[in-house]
Amino acid sequence: MLKIADEFKLTINGKNVSTENTIPVLNPATEEVIAYMPNASEQNLNDAVKAACTAFSGWAATKIDERDELLTKLAESIHKNRDELATLLTLEMGKPNIAALREIMGAIHWLKEVSKQRLKREVIEETEDHFVERYYTPLGVVGAIVPWNFPVNIAIMKIAPSLLAGNTVILKPSPYTPLTTLKIGELASAILPKGVLNVVSGNDELGRWITEHPDVNKVSFTGSTPTGKKVMQSAASNLKRVTLELGGNDAAIILPDADPKGIAKRLFWAAFQNTGQVCVATKRMYVHEDIYDEFLAELVNYAKTVKVGDGTDPSTEIGPIQNKMQYEKVINLIEDTKRIGARIVQGGQVEDKPGYFIPVTIVDNPPEDSRVVVEEAFGPILPVLKYRDYEDVIARVNKSNCGLGGSVWGKDIEFAQTIAERLETGTVWINEVTVLSPHYPFGGHKESGLGIENSIDGLYEYTNSKTIMINKKKMF
Ligand code: NDP
Repeated sequence: MLKIADEFKLTINGKNVSTENTIPVLNPATEEVIAYMPNASEQNLNDAVKAACTAFSGWAATKIDERDELLTKLAESIHKNRDELATLLTLEMGKPNIAALREIMGAIHWLKEVSKQRLKREVIEETEDHFVERYYTPLGVVGAIVPWNFPVNIAIMKIAPSLLAGNTVILKPSPYTPLTTLKIGELASAILPKGVLNVVSGNDELGRWITEHPDVNKVSFTGSTPTGKKVMQSAASNLKRVTLELGGNDAAIILPDADPKGIAKRLFWAAFQNTGQVCVATKRMYVHEDIYDEFLAELVNYAKTVKVGDGTDPSTEIGPIQNKMQYEKVINLIEDTKRIGARIVQGGQVEDKPGYFIPVTIVDNPPEDSRVVVEEAFGPILPVLKYRDYEDVIARVNKSNCGLGGSVWGKDIEFAQTIAERLETGTVWINEVTVLSPHYPFGGHKESGLGIENSIDGLYEYTNSKTIMINKKKMF
């Protein structure tokens, strides 16, 4: 059984390793220390990279079916421990327990589904004289750097394709949410060959040590755009491959023929699920003026029914913000919204009590250039904006450095699609939102990222393309 009283350890070379120093981990609902995480030294990281390098040739040489089998075993082990892992996830991340369990179940599904994918060998040319074949080889050691909003899902989204493709991995959870990941590392050490998956937690320098390490061949990073740029800079030292999944400022465009009552609840959760801390959360809602008032009223009415609280309380639907830095950032955005005189129609008052709680906050048609519209809030504050003209709304939505996702809502699907095609984002949903799958490609345009996660393309991101050509003419 996994208990919060457990000692949390790094996983290096198949062993569970304690460190000299530890760092407290807080429960964001109470601000109390719940456990101490190991603080990996540079020597710990070097040991992990050495173990991953040593394990690489053996792991890469195994058949992909064998790797599939071991990853499926890992999925089963996580499943066996799902309740304890979900309890831990709620305590360190803040999300309601049911959402934590959903995240663990999602990660299990991802691990099993990705494991079924296969890298193709492709014959490009075959003639009497010439044969050309392309196939894919693993890269080596992958550094997987994970944020605090979906610590388990995002970790699995990175390690499943890395390991299936034959790479070895150094996994670094966020120092805000390391505990569930460290436990998964311990579970993995009983299943995978030593050195194949190493899990290291630590303070601010650890990420940089990974991205600068000469023996790490690829970095897969999810987090903010400014940090993504730093990762890319460090990766240049040895031309590490990078996959970057960065910020988004996703817009929903609600067409005049949409039914406000029918879609308000779905769009509420698109914005406020996980306390708004979702890269593809709807962060701007553009509503046609014909239905604006009705839609806003439906959204606010629904918001009033939703309970914000401690994730361990079964009646809680929205937990606290995960950490103090993010809490202060969102409060600052609310204050700026008040300062410019924009109308807050729901929430906006933060109570002075323990825990990083912010009420669901909805802003009625703030100026297009206000911070609440332009910046990615990554918290429970949503601007609802009015539009009349389609060209105007497309231009407003596209006037962003971000290009992760977006959605269009309306009865006339063909028309909705003409709008979807003009949005400058990696994904556009029509009459649905935030639907992700291990089999759908996911990636950002503009400053929302680089490369693709999920799908067979996501698997190829963890490989080198290799072409072998044979001259079949008689030469000797
Ligand atoms: P960051 O992008 O700064 O950090 C994310 C992860 O990267 C953490 O594990 C962090 O570890 C690590 N990291 C930081 N600097 C480096 C570096 N130079 N090299 C390698 N790894 C590094 O996000 P924050 O947590 O600071 O949040 C800031 C903003 O990012 C949020 O307000 C939100 O807008 C956005 N964000 C987006 C997410 C997404 O899903 N796209 C997820 C989380 C945040 P350490 O903390 O130890 O430095």
